Amino acid sequence: MQISALRQQLRALGAKPAHEARVLRHWARALPLDQGKPPLAGWLPAPLLAALPELLAQWNSQVQLRGEHPADDGAARLLLGLQDGQTVESVLLPREGVCVSSQVGCAVGCAFCMTGTEGLIRQVTSGEMVAQVVLARQLRPVRKVVFMGMGEPSHNLANVLEAIEFLGTEGGLAHKQLVFSTVGDERAFEALHAAPVKPALALSLHTTRPELREQLLPRAPRLTPQQLVELADAYARATGYPIQYQWTLLRGVNDSAEEMDAVVRLLAGRYGLLNLILYNEVDGLPFDRPDPAAAQALARALTQRGVLTKLRDSAGQDVEGGCGQLRAREAVGRP
Ligand code: SF4
Repeated sequence: MQISALRQQLRALGAKPAHEARVLRHWARALPLDQGKPPLAGWLPAPLLAALPELLAQWNSQVQLRGEHPADDGAARLLLGLQDGQTVESVLLPREGVCVSSQVGCAVGCAFCMTGTEGLIRQVTSGEMVAQVVLARQLRPVRKVVFMGMGEPSHNLANVLEAIEFLGTEGGLAHKQLVFSTVGDERAFEALHAAPVKPALALSLHTTRPELREQLLPRAPRLTPQQLVELADAYARATGYPIQYQWTLLRGVNDSAEEMDAVVRLLAGRYGLLNLILYNEVDGLPFDRPDPAAAQALARALTQRGVLTKLRDSAGQDVEGGCGQLRAREAVGRP
């Protein structure tokens, strides 16, 4: 369901605008009915209150926890069932974050990504995205939501923006703690500039070379890295939030000295941060994880040359948790 449909359900039960906002806030923050100021119990009209447990259970059941895979780094990968039998993954991140999925499958087809191998299966609704956050909040506190799980948010723009607006208002999250992660799409940049809740932006760059990017991200919009960085930089200046440039580091593919020189030419002086992400190897895909010490040296050298760079590991690396791998394991009956 979309958030707009949840609102209609409440109105059909006689909720006034003030009631609607309070019920949605309670749900988005995973608060029990007898908590909050004031608690809903005792404040709502009796018929609406009586209908709420069943309604909230229905909203929560948009995603069902099918498996939890904790990792040593404090992350935990969740395999979630949707009501039509499809599955997506969420990741509970260290430091009160959660990574949610915006699509089942993905059409971009990144050559190094398990999710990209199966194409787009269906969109995830705004209600299902918020339900992923509510489920996470039932397990841990959540102060940050990144739209960086399965799917490309700009290919499901209306639903993602509806979820972001909702989480940045009723969900009580600071706008810069909502992160829209994209391979880059002009329509998405236009929509983000106009959105009432403006999230922070993560841009998946992966290389400075247009021809290599076309090979690695075969169905991403045909914008060059230079054009993407210009668009992202304009958004950073408009919002005051630095851009997170994402770079999945693939050994022997995008980690050469020439590529690092080009990174410095492209990003030095930009309002942003470069995240070098150690690749999580996937069975059947022809890419290798770089040596962590060599990657750390690259990050240090880039920072010294004026590109603030952090080395990141894919959260949940030790539970075979690359994007889409839990879903793929379940599909072939592996635990
Ligand atoms: Fe889609 Fe992201 Fe995987 Fe690329 S890395 S195929 S954009 S889910």
